[in-house]
Amino acid sequence: MQFGVSYTLIIAAVLVLLNTYPLFVSESMVFRSKESAMMSAVSALVSSLSGLDRLNEENVSAAMFAAGEIGQSRVLVANAAGRILYDTRETRDALGNYVFYTELVLALSGNDVFTCVYEKGAFRSRAASPVLYQNQIIGAVYAYEYDRTQAALLEGLQSNLMRISVATGIGVLVLSLLLSAMLARKIGALLTAIREVREGSYSRRARIFGRDEIAQIGQEFNSLTDRLQKTETARRRFVSDASHELKTPLAAIRLLSDSILQTDNIDMGTTREFVSDIGAEAERLSRITENLLRLTRLDSGILDAPAPVEVLPVLEQVMRMMSLVAQEKGVDLTYHAEDNCVVSGTKDEIYQVFYNLIDNAVKYTPPGGAAQAVLRREGAEVVFKVEDNGGGIPEEDLPRIFRRFYRVDKARSRAAGGAGLGLSIVSDMVTRRGGTIEADNRFLGGAVFTVRWPALDAT
Ligand code: ADP
Repeated sequence: MQFGVSYTLIIAAVLVLLNTYPLFVSESMVFRSKESAMMSAVSALVSSLSGLDRLNEENVSAAMFAAGEIGQSRVLVANAAGRILYDTRETRDALGNYVFYTELVLALSGNDVFTCVYEKGAFRSRAASPVLYQNQIIGAVYAYEYDRTQAALLEGLQSNLMRISVATGIGVLVLSLLLSAMLARKIGALLTAIREVREGSYSRRARIFGRDEIAQIGQEFNSLTDRLQKTETARRRFVSDASHELKTPLAAIRLLSDSILQTDNIDMGTTREFVSDIGAEAERLSRITENLLRLTRLDSGILDAPAPVEVLPVLEQVMRMMSLVAQEKGVDLTYHAEDNCVVSGTKDEIYQVFYNLIDNAVKYTPPGGAAQAVLRREGAEVVFKVEDNGGGIPEEDLPRIFRRFYRVDKARSRAAGGAGLGLSIVSDMVTRRGGTIEADNRFLGGAVFTVRWPALDAT
């Protein structure tokens, strides 16, 4: 409705301008043309009187007669004292009197005067000039014109403009009312959809009519809601997956502690075994919560400020620990590394990437197998590759391997202590620093993971 009101105000202003400006311009054009016509008529009369040393009724009448008809409504000639010596009006009622028209008085004091007014449907123009003899004012000529013809033309223009304005005004008013009702309806529909989504109905979409700006806002709103819905679904899945993952070790802890409590005469050996299982489950819980916290931090987009990180010492640190784990399991873990590898990030991130990938290689390779890590600089990239000769990853699972909580073999992975979070954390960390990660299977069996970071030059 507000649109309608503002349109109407703008149109009203335009119409007022249309009804005043052209009239004002034409009126002043008429004034100017009258001025030049009347002043030249008066000066013609003045020049027909020039040469007379004194003015009296006879010589003025004779001179005026000689000058002929000049087409004015009335002409008066006065002497220096202001007495009228000549009057063209039929009644000649001014003759012999002292008539003090302002214009005449001004002319007698030496001025050329012109005035014109437009009133009551007529232009009334008055012009007067002094008559001089040897630089002495001996009288003045005054002319008056009453013109209805031009005034009628002006009135015609005025009433035409008025008619056009009224018609345009009504048309615009109707159109703007229609338009604003239409806009109000569209915006109203959009607002309803926005409110419903705000209240939590994420499946609600705005209906879109036409292709105007409001339709575009509707489309933008719908794609925003799409994203919102996806984020909401992902959030719910995350929460339910996370609680599920936390529930499993908690249930195990409860089961084990109940068994200890409820078994009569439980021997020391069994108790120790159960308590050590409880410890392992608690450790798993803390690993999962740590990973969940890491993911939440990554999701919130808060990244620690990156700095150049020398990668080799971090890899050596991970290898020192992982080689013990590998040795215990009977997996042959080796590595080759170059030392001019510097990337942008934080030590902790790089540590997590190396740790998770090497840990997986050892975890998913049976005893007697082998795993190898290679770190090298390839042109503008730092490349880190981990390969093993374990069971590899089924081809159909390769595209899903980096998703949260995704595990190829749930039972095996859980037994190995995993919750399906490691690779998703690794991939987030790598991509957020401008790198890439790929998973593949080796031709001879086993998995291979390749990480590429943009390389920085060693300082
Ligand atoms: P998890 O904590 O279960 O190991 P990850 O996200 O690290 O979770 O890995 C996801 C899944 O990818 C694992 O459950 C496993 O099935 C598979 N996977 C990861 N690395 C390897 C590997 N080197 N060899 C075979 N399978 C692997």
